[in-house]
Amino acid sequence: MEDRTCDCLIVGAGPAGLTAAVYLARFRRAVVVADTGTSRASRIPVSHNVPGFADGISGPDILRRHVEQAAAFDIVPRTADVRALVAEGGAFTCPLAGRNGERATVRATTVLLATGIQDNEPEMPELAGAISQGSVRLCPVCDAYEAIDADIAVLGDGPGAAAEAVFLRTYSERVTLLLTGGARCLSPGDRASLRNHGIRIVEEGIAALARDDAGRMAVLTAGGPGLAFDTLYAALGSRARSGLAAGLGAELEPACGAVVVDGHQRTSVPGLWAAGDVASSLNQVSVAWGQAAIAATDIHNHLRDT
Ligand SMILES: Cc1cc2nc3c(=O)[nH]c(=O)nc-3n(C[C@H](O)[C@H](O)[C@H](O)COP(=O)(O)OP(=O)(O)OC[C@H]3O[C@@H](n4cnc5c(N)ncnc54)[C@H](O)[C@@H]3O)c2cc1C
Repeated sequence: MEDRTCDCLIVGAGPAGLTAAVYLARFRRAVVVADTGTSRASRIPVSHNVPGFADGISGPDILRRHVEQAAAFDIVPRTADVRALVAEGGAFTCPLAGRNGERATVRATTVLLATGIQDNEPEMPELAGAISQGSVRLCPVCDAYEAIDADIAVLGDGPGAAAEAVFLRTYSERVTLLLTGGARCLSPGDRASLRNHGIRIVEEGIAALARDDAGRMAVLTAGGPGLAFDTLYAALGSRARSGLAAGLGAELEPACGAVVVDGHQRTSVPGLWAAGDVASSLNQVSVAWGQAAIAATDIHNHLRDT
């Protein structure tokens, strides 16, 4: 890995980062993309809400197409962890660490953070397989349509999990909220709302989760009998991967750590933009694409005018 100087360092090669890379390359900007290879998109079994793909498309296929398009502009993401961003003299010095201990420094006039989020995941054997088979799901906006009339469990606590259970009632009459933290985690208002929507609440705590041979979710409650569901939505929250922005003192959302941005995807730190899940509350491929296009165009205009 050699040192580089560029107009923009893009941190993250998911849908947001690679969309921005292509836009900036087409604006004839020198771009470096660094990525640690954990795009959430790589976990999408098949999506039916990505615009333009009527028959659905898998996450790995989306990423493959992005990489191919970027390669047409000579952009190949470096497999490297961006460890820090140091703002000095109107630019950023960015140390990169490769998988095998290689080190390099990128000096960039601007930085786009497209680092995504980290899902809080349920503890169970073979979680990756359960997600790829649709037994465990992480995003009802993404795929609740594929769970119409299923017997659905929602695993979580508090207002977020209650809201997700209510959201899922659009798709099925059989929705059960499995409380991970017991009865005290629901406010009287949430409890009333769940009751009004006919949602069953299981309060005794969850001892174990597993996928049975038929692909259903087997749930062992702490005190009661075993339960089974067609699919389980994990409503356990997430954390934005916004540590690099935090290190520069950027404003973050207190609840989830998402980077606060303006209408041009600018953060509160001059020269630093953010796009995709790390800056959004609607974590979707189409949002990542749109925000990346806005950010890249604003970065280009900023570079031209300074
Ligand atoms: C199971 C599942 C199903 C989904 N289904 C759908 C769907 O049907 N439709 C839909 O629209 N969306 C879906 N999503 C959401 C979608 O995957 C995300 O919205 C999308 O991937 C966000 O893109 P992004 O570029 O912001 O972040 P990501 O795709 O997560 O990419 C972020 C990248 O940044 C890299 N990175 C992080 N920190 C660093 C660092 N310090 N240095 C270098 N690299 C770094 C990571 O390795 C990662 O590759 C689903 C998500 C999951 C988990």
